[in-house]
Amino acid sequence: MSRVPFMAGNWKMNKTVGEAVELVKELKISIAGTEGVEVAVAPPFTALYAVRKELEGSSIRLAAQNLYWEEKGAFTGEISSLMLKELGCHYVIIGHSERRQYFGEMDVTVNKRMRAALSQGVIPILCIGETLKEREEEKTFTVIDSQLGNGLKGIGEREMERMVIAYEPVWAIGTGKTATPQQAEEVHQFIRQGLEKLYTRGVAEVVRIQYGGSVTPESVKGLMSQKNIDGALVGGASLKSEPFSKIVRFKEM
Ligand code: PEP
Repeated sequence: MSRVPFMAGNWKMNKTVGEAVELVKELKISIAGTEGVEVAVAPPFTALYAVRKELEGSSIRLAAQNLYWEEKGAFTGEISSLMLKELGCHYVIIGHSERRQYFGEMDVTVNKRMRAALSQGVIPILCIGETLKEREEEKTFTVIDSQLGNGLKGIGEREMERMVIAYEPVWAIGTGKTATPQQAEEVHQFIRQGLEKLYTRGVAEVVRIQYGGSVTPESVKGLMSQKNIDGALVGGASLKSEPFSKIVRFKEM
């Protein structure tokens, strides 16, 4: 079963509207002609509309970095899946470790966000991963198992087939420490087996599992050579068109 490689840039709380538009303009040029790779960018909420306008006619997909699970109402400061849908968001990142670490995100709220996204047809990129302490205490697989099972509660087989999982070891995010291709592959394989247990082998074979954690043009090829690594969720290296387009063009390197 072939899974189309998927590279997504998580811009986090970076880029003014002007800077965001400038970056996608450059990106459209630098990745032009690349085939067989899906690409998405996740600007901050404030730049989604302008970036979407700039992406018209381009195959680069728009992603959001978070959402709230209610559709509308008195939830000051929040953004719903309905609003993201209207803006043309194809994907939404859910459960990023920075949300878990700084904003009290838990598996139960991750699951609510997942369902809300799917209710509007916005595809979640579910982020899971262990901390350094958990890895050192040999709890990686237990953590992954529970984040996966709890995050996916109540999500049906058909919805699952379109979903994306991002394995992001917390100790590798923004630290410059990339997991080795073998370390990452071991967990990706475990996630795929987990999907098979929760769903079916067919589902497990089609779901794309991205790796995230200090991915660079130098590390991407080794990671992408692994059987169960289907793409990357890229933070720092997605903030400039040159490194991100090299990551997108990993096949040419
Ligand atoms: C991320 O935020 O999802 C991420 C992987 O960041 P970085 O590439 O900067 O480690």
